Amino acid sequence: MSTTHPQTYPHPDYEAAHQQTYERAPRHPIAPIPLPPGVRKSDFDLAISDFIEIVGVESVFVGEGLSDYIDPYDVHEHDPSQRKVPSAAVCPNSTEQLSSVLRVANKFKIPLWHFSRGKNLGYGGPAPRVNGSVALDLHKLDKIIEVNDEYHYAVVEPGVTFIQLYEYCVEHKKKVWPSTPSLGWGSVIGNTVDRGMGFGMNYAHHQCVAGIEVLLPDGDLVRTGQWGISGSPSGFLSKFTFGPSVEGLFFQSNLGIVTKMSLWLTPQPQAYMCCSFSMPLFTDMEVMVDVFGEMKRNGTVQSCVWFTSLIETLCIMGRREDYWTGEGPVPDWRLEELRLETGFGHWYARWGLYGPKRIVEAQFEEIKSVLARRAPTGTISRNLYANHEEDGRLDASTVPDQDGQMFVGIPSLWSLPLINWPIPKDKKDGKAAHGDYAPVIPSNGKLLMEWMEVSKPICEANGVELMADFFMHERHVVLMNMFTWDQTDAAQKAKMERLYYGLYEEAKKRGYGMYRGHVNHMDLIANLNDFNNHAYNRFVEKIKDALDPNGILGPGKQGIWPNRFRHLRETQEKKFD
Ligand SMILES: Cc1cc2nc3c(=O)[nH]c(=O)nc-3n(C[C@H](O)[C@H](O)[C@H](O)COP(=O)(O)OP(=O)(O)OC[C@H]3O[C@@H](n4cnc5c(N)ncnc54)[C@H](O)[C@@H]3O)c2cc1C
Repeated sequence: MSTTHPQTYPHPDYEAAHQQTYERAPRHPIAPIPLPPGVRKSDFDLAISDFIEIVGVESVFVGEGLSDYIDPYDVHEHDPSQRKVPSAAVCPNSTEQLSSVLRVANKFKIPLWHFSRGKNLGYGGPAPRVNGSVALDLHKLDKIIEVNDEYHYAVVEPGVTFIQLYEYCVEHKKKVWPSTPSLGWGSVIGNTVDRGMGFGMNYAHHQCVAGIEVLLPDGDLVRTGQWGISGSPSGFLSKFTFGPSVEGLFFQSNLGIVTKMSLWLTPQPQAYMCCSFSMPLFTDMEVMVDVFGEMKRNGTVQSCVWFTSLIETLCIMGRREDYWTGEGPVPDWRLEELRLETGFGHWYARWGLYGPKRIVEAQFEEIKSVLARRAPTGTISRNLYANHEEDGRLDASTVPDQDGQMFVGIPSLWSLPLINWPIPKDKKDGKAAHGDYAPVIPSNGKLLMEWMEVSKPICEANGVELMADFFMHERHVVLMNMFTWDQTDAAQKAKMERLYYGLYEEAKKRGYGMYRGHVNHMDLIANLNDFNNHAYNRFVEKIKDALDPNGILGPGKQGIWPNRFRHLRETQEKKFD
C-alpha cells in the first residue's frame, strides 16, 4: 500500500499549486485513522487486500498517503470528533476496475466517497461526508473519448481536467471553445455534476449535458437519453428521450458514478467581444441587475454576466493589508477612497459576445443604448477580437489575459490568489482558506440589494468584508458570499462557522436554497426542502434504498442517506448568540 502520493498533474504549475494547497494542510495529524462506521477491522483489512488485487498496490493509499484526501480548508481540522477524513483511498483506472471496487465494497459494506479530481475546494475538496469512508479517486479514468466539431460536443471520462480538454482541442485543431471555470485543475465531470459554472456561452455546464454513462452502486452500467440506443447517431445531440429524463438524478448525487459524459461546447466563433460595465454606488446594483436581467431574458446577452463587488475586484489584485491596515474589515469610508483611487466601480459586470462579427457589433450597440438610457451613470467598455476573413474563426489564444481568457475558455489558476486576502505577507506560517455561502436568488434588483444589505453586517460582525460576486442566469442569479480566513487562527475559524449559520438563517427566512454546499453543511441545506414533510428528500431516499441497499456510495452526500446510515443525519441547526 502506498503512503506517498504520486504527482497528479503533468503541468508543473498545476502540480506546484496542488502541492502548495496540500503540503501544509494536515497541520494536525490525520491519525488515528477512523474505520468506516459499522465495519469490523477484519472485514476492512480483507476489503483493502481485495482493492489491492484489483487496482495494484500503488493505487491504494493509507496512513500518510491520505494527506491529499482531506479538506485543506477544514475549519474542524483541530477536532477529531468533527473532522472528516477517509480510512483509505482507491484509484481505479478503468470502468472495469471501478465496477470490481464496487463489488468488493458491497461485499464488505464499505462506504465509498467518489470524486473525479477532488478539487471541490470550498465545499470539502475530496473529504468524505461520513468519517472513515474510503476515498474513491477517479482521476486515472482520464480519456477524452471524442471532441466533435461538427455538432460541437465532447465526451470525456471523470479524470479529464479543463486544461486537458482545452489542450486537446488546440492540439487537434478542433473548432470548438470548451467552457472553463476560474480554475482549470478541476475535472469536467466533477464540476459539471456539482452544477459548477464557467463564464462564456455554455457556462451553465450541467445544462449542456445530453447523454451520460453511469455505474450504479449494484454494478449495472446505464447510458441515458438517445445514448441508451446502441448505435444512435443522436446519442450526444439531444435531451429528448422516450420516458423520464434521468441525467439529473446523477447531479449532486450518490445514486451512481458518472463514468462518461457528453458536454456541449461553443462553436469557435468569428468574433469575441470582451465587455464590461461598472457603476459607482453600492446601491447601483439594483438597476444593473434589472437591466442585465432583462437583456439576458430577451436574448440580447447570451453568455454569463458575471458581477463582482469592489472588494472582490481588489482581492484578486492584492491582500487586505495592501488597502487597509486598521483592525477588522475594510470600513466603508476607506472603500469609497479606494473606489476613487482605483477608478473601479462599486459593482463591475463582465460578459462576452460571441459569433459573426457583424452580429456581435450590433449586439453591443443595442446593449450600449439600453444602458445609456437605463443606467446613465455607468461606464461601458469593450474590446473586439475577430478573424476578419468571411467565415474565419478566432483563435482564442490571441485574446490577451486582461480581456478575460476564462471568457474564451482558456483554463488557468488565475483566481486562486484571492484566498490569500486576509494573510499578512510577513506571516510566513499563515495558511489561506476559503468558503462561500451561495444562495439562489431571483434576478431582481430589489431582492439582490436587500440580500447585500442583510449579509453585509453579518460578514462584518464576523471580521470579514462583504466579498460578493454572482453569476447571472435568465431568471435567477447564483450569488457567492465569499469568505477567506487564516487556517492557523482558531478565532477566525470559529467566526466562519458563525458567519455561515448567520447567512443560512437569513436565507431560510426568504426561502432561498443553495446552489452547492460543503460536506459539513449538506444536511442543513437539504433540510430547506421542507414542502410536504420533506417529500423531495424522502423521494430521493426511496430511490437511494432501491439502488444501493448496502448504502455504499457517498452516504450523506447532499443530505441523501441510505437506510443503513440514516441515523447519522444531522438535522439540528446551530444557534449562536
Ligand atoms: C478560488 C476558487 C475559485 C473557484 N472558481 C470556480 C468557478 O469559477 N466555477 C465553479 O464552478 N467552481 C469554482 N470553484 C469550486 C471548485 O474548485 C470547482 O468547481 C472544481 O471544478 C470542482 O472540483 P472537481 O472538478 O475536481 O470536482 P470533484 O471534487 O471531483 O467533484 C465535485 C463533486 O462532484 C461529485 N462527483 C465527482 N465526480 C463524479 C462522478 N464521476 N460521478 C458522480 N459524482 C461525481 C463529487 O462527489 C463532488 O461532490 C472555485 C474554487 C476556488 C477555491
